[in-house]
Amino acid sequence: MVLLDGKATSKDIQAEIAAEVSSRMQRGYKRPHLAAILVGNDGASETYVASKVKACERCGFESTLLRLNANISQDELLEQIEQLNNDDAVDGFIVQLPLPAHLNEQLVIEAIHPDKDVDGFHPVSVGKMALNLPTYLPATPYGIMQLLERSGVKTAGKHAVVVGRSHIVGSPMSILLARNTEPGNCTVTLTHSKTADLASFTREADILVVALGRPEFITADMVKEGAVVVDVGITRVDDDSEKGYTLKGDVHFDSVAPKCSYITPVPGGVGPMTIASLLKNTLQAARDKRS
Ligand code: NDP
Repeated sequence: MVLLDGKATSKDIQAEIAAEVSSRMQRGYKRPHLAAILVGNDGASETYVASKVKACERCGFESTLLRLNANISQDELLEQIEQLNNDDAVDGFIVQLPLPAHLNEQLVIEAIHPDKDVDGFHPVSVGKMALNLPTYLPATPYGIMQLLERSGVKTAGKHAVVVGRSHIVGSPMSILLARNTEPGNCTVTLTHSKTADLASFTREADILVVALGRPEFITADMVKEGAVVVDVGITRVDDDSEKGYTLKGDVHFDSVAPKCSYITPVPGGVGPMTIASLLKNTLQAARDKRS
C-alpha cells in the first residue's frame, strides 16, 4: 500500500508556484493577489481560510481577507462581490462556503465574475470544465487529479466510482475522471444517497473517491483488493483530546488501507491539495490578465 501524500505533493506544487512568482516579479509583474470573503465565524471555515492565507504568504502572493458580519444582507454581500469583480488589483477571489442560512449560495456564486472565479464554481466555469475547455477547475477535484498524476496512478480504462454528487466535489470529480485527458479516461459511476446497494458499486471500483461527510462510512468489505482510495471527507468528531475533537475521513482507514494499492490519509491527503489548486488557479488568473 502506498500513501498518497497530499501534504508533500502540495508542498512541491507550492514551491513551483513560489519560483514562478519570483521569476515574474523579476520581469516586472506584480504579485498574484487572492482575496477571500468570510461571512460569520464558523470554526471550520476560519481554519480553512487561515490555511489559504498562510499558503498565499508562502508563495509570495498578496492576500486580502474580508471578514463580514454573519448578519450581512444578501444585497450587501453582492455589493462586496461586485467591488472585488471591479478591483483591478485582485486577480481572483473566493467566498468561503458554507454561508449562513439566510444567504443564497447560488446567487453568490453566480455574482462572481468568471474571470476571477478561482474556486471554479460559477456555471460558466463548470460548463467549460464539462466541455474540456480551459477554465479554473474546482479546487478539490483539481487537487485530486494532480495528486493522482504526480503519484503515478494510471487512470485510463479504469472503473472509477465516486460517492457523493455535491457541486463542489463529487459531481465535478466525476466529470474530470471521465474527460478525455490524462489523468482521466475512466469509466465513471457517480453514486449518492439514493443509490441502491451502494457497496455493490464501491466493490467494483478500481479508483474509489469518497465525498459524503460521514466519518468512517466506507469499510473494508466495501472496497476491492488493490483499489486506489481517495478520501475527501473531513468531519470533526468530538472526543476528550486536548483539542476536543479529531478529524475523521469518510473511509475507515485502518481496515481499508491494507487492501489498497494507494490511499490518501486524513488529514494530509486531499485537504492540502485543495489549497495548492486554489493557488494554481490564482496564478493562472494573474497570467490570464497579462495575456
Ligand atoms: P455534501 O453534503 O454537499 O454532499 C454529500 C453527498 O454525499 C451528497 O451527494 C449525498 O447524496 C451523498 N450521500 C450522503 N449520504 C450518503 C449515503 N449514505 N450513501 C451515498 N451517498 C451519500 O458534501 P461535500 O461534497 O461538500 O463534502 C463531502 C465531505 O468532503 C465533507 O466531509 C466535507 O467536509 C469534505 N470536503 C473536504 C474538502 C477538502 O479539501 N478535503 C473540500 C470539500 C469538502 P444526495 O445528493 O443524494 O444528498
